[in-house]
Amino acid sequence: MRKNLLAAGGLVLLSVLGACQGSTQLDVTASSIPQNIMDLEKKRKPVQTFYPEDEANEVSKDETGNEIGEDESDGDGIITVTDPESVEVVVNKQRKLPENYKPDDLVVPDVPFSFDGWNEKKQLREPAARALEQLFQAAEKEGLHLVAVSGFRSFERQQIIYNNNVNANGEEHANQFSARPGHSEHQTGLAMDVSSATVSFHLIQSFGETPEGKWLNDHAHEFGFIIRYPEGKSEITGYAYEPWHLRFTGKELATEMYNNQVTMEEFFGLLPEEEVSE
Ligand SMILES: [Zn+2]
Repeated sequence: MRKNLLAAGGLVLLSVLGACQGSTQLDVTASSIPQNIMDLEKKRKPVQTFYPEDEANEVSKDETGNEIGEDESDGDGIITVTDPESVEVVVNKQRKLPENYKPDDLVVPDVPFSFDGWNEKKQLREPAARALEQLFQAAEKEGLHLVAVSGFRSFERQQIIYNNNVNANGEEHANQFSARPGHSEHQTGLAMDVSSATVSFHLIQSFGETPEGKWLNDHAHEFGFIIRYPEGKSEITGYAYEPWHLRFTGKELATEMYNNQVTMEEFFGLLPEEEVSE
């Protein structure tokens, strides 16, 4: 069905404007969009840009989710996804994972990490872990040395991070700079932050200019990963450019998104209200 989102002529024209790298237009057939997506209450709201993770202080920068809409089902306009185990699940500021969701196939990929010892964030779901191993091996053949920094993040750990921020800085501040539990894509077990020695293993935008970052941008899709928060798409994803954040979706979808240079929000018709016209 998802192929129709790009292929079919549209009842709903989604015009993606305002991206720094020009504009894109997608024709989307409304009937091809899953009902839970169509139910998303889309309220006009300025899209702000955040860095959802700052591993240095374990604070994930995010905006509050409860200002976005007035979804009648839960009163705060937030959709709880019904397919958390799908490799195609879309998690963002409007769409959260169930509170008790934890993947049951988490494993530690056999790749270099930026730190030693056990930590839950070494884990990925098995299909993503195997794909990451292949990606790292391919990079090594090019003389590029990637390291994994942060993968799975449990709801509980995100809650601790968020609550610590609330206690330290107040709820208003926390809502601006810490992801609410359930809204981190890392809880899916399908996301891994990677870096390289050339940027001292930091998660910073200049990683995108390194040979490793450039190679990832060009080749990650071949292994089923996308750069989830690409440059120039902040108003669509709600997140600043994160050349380090890899999201596993499987090769087919990753390649399709790469070839069309679209984000998950664009591909699945989950754009902010101001981007939609009929
Ligand atoms: Zn990340």
